[in-house]
Amino acid sequence: MSATAVSGETSKLLPRHSGFAYPSVESADGVWLNLGDGRRILDACSGGSMTTCLGHGNEAVIAAAAEQGRALSYSYNHHFTNEPQERLAAELIERAAPAMARVRFTCGGSEANETALRLIRAYHVDRGEEQRWRIVSPAQAYHGSLIGPLALCGRPALRRDWDPYLSPQPHLSPGAWHRDPSGGESLAALDALLDEAGPGNVAAYFCEPVSAAAAPGFSPPVRFWEGLAERRERHGFLICCDEVASGMGRTGSWFASDRLPFVSDIITTGKGLGAGYAPLSAVLCTEEVYAALDRGSGEFDHGHTWDGAPLPCAVGLAVLAELVDGDLVARVDAAGPPLLERLHERLTDQAMVREVRGKGFLLGAELVDPRDGETPLPEDLGLERLVVERGLAAGVLLAATSTAGDGFVADQVALAPAFTASEDELEAMVERVGETLEAVELEVVARLGARS
Ligand code: PLP
Repeated sequence: MSATAVSGETSKLLPRHSGFAYPSVESADGVWLNLGDGRRILDACSGGSMTTCLGHGNEAVIAAAAEQGRALSYSYNHHFTNEPQERLAAELIERAAPAMARVRFTCGGSEANETALRLIRAYHVDRGEEQRWRIVSPAQAYHGSLIGPLALCGRPALRRDWDPYLSPQPHLSPGAWHRDPSGGESLAALDALLDEAGPGNVAAYFCEPVSAAAAPGFSPPVRFWEGLAERRERHGFLICCDEVASGMGRTGSWFASDRLPFVSDIITTGKGLGAGYAPLSAVLCTEEVYAALDRGSGEFDHGHTWDGAPLPCAVGLAVLAELVDGDLVARVDAAGPPLLERLHERLTDQAMVREVRGKGFLLGAELVDPRDGETPLPEDLGLERLVVERGLAAGVLLAATSTAGDGFVADQVALAPAFTASEDELEAMVERVGETLEAVELEVVARLGARS
């Protein structure tokens, strides 16, 4: 452990993993992180959580935060509105989400999704359909760690200890979801779930249009999305797209769902909206969803202390301005495919890599047993940690997700650079990802060998 690393033994924090010596990060500029022990790490995952889409140290955003902090940093939605949140709602709709009509700001992705759940329910209750509460979603997803959104995720490894708190919701199993090139199998599975629940009891279909951590860069085929839209029409449920990670340009369009063959009823977004300069997320809905509440109870009296506060919303305005002025969404759209190709080429010889995929700057690789190139690695191998550690040793920050624990979905590695990363930096990221996974594969082979 370096002198600046923090471990469970030396820190007063309640750490995520008490056995891990977390290095301390002291400062950052662009896509470079400066660690306390002097190392300079290439940030290939926008802060590690696909958040810092403008890179670190953006002067315009910092100045906007300082200015708003001096004028008014906080006010409470229960009593007041404020100019930054009014302007951000209007500009977000105008610039990025013209099909949406209303916005509620929250702090993080889990809060946005919890708010969306309540909005879905309020919509149906206010229309006199109280029996609609079931929410269908793909099991292989991540919608946040709060109990409401966690119930929409069907990954055994994440749910295990919390099951008693989670409401029973129908999930599309990964078997029918993830390896279905025609989309037909997923639609048949969706129909079976709708039948089982009774389609008139279903409130919404909730999904990531392009998966983030759960299966980085994965999106089902267009036939699935068309079929989903047909079923919405037929059965009257809503579609909510969780764009906490994929929104704000990450996949090369303002929202990944812009490229789907339907308009979402509700979109949630976060991460890139505050870009790591303030905790900020949002729930957007169509006029139809809003009108149901307006004509019904006239209420959506749900919220959190920091919702729509002026300081984070001023940051959101500055982030939006940077994205627009720098034409950064178009940049991601243009630079994404060559980046994916480069990653593909670099990882092509690795037995452990089953698939490389992605959209825009949301790319991923799936890691399996190098001995057969197929089977998910055992959970207790701790691949997630190994990838992060070997990445830092190779000078790159990556995100990794552990195997779903369902025997089907394997470990995943995500590459999600800032939209402002230069071509040279992108190339260096790919090279370091390659070096990292080579080192991981060697270690995996050794560990598996020791077991057999
Ligand atoms: N939804 C998606 C798609 C995410 O990727 C995440 C976080 O990784 C969340 C929701 C939860 O967001 P937060 O960690 O800000 O609560």
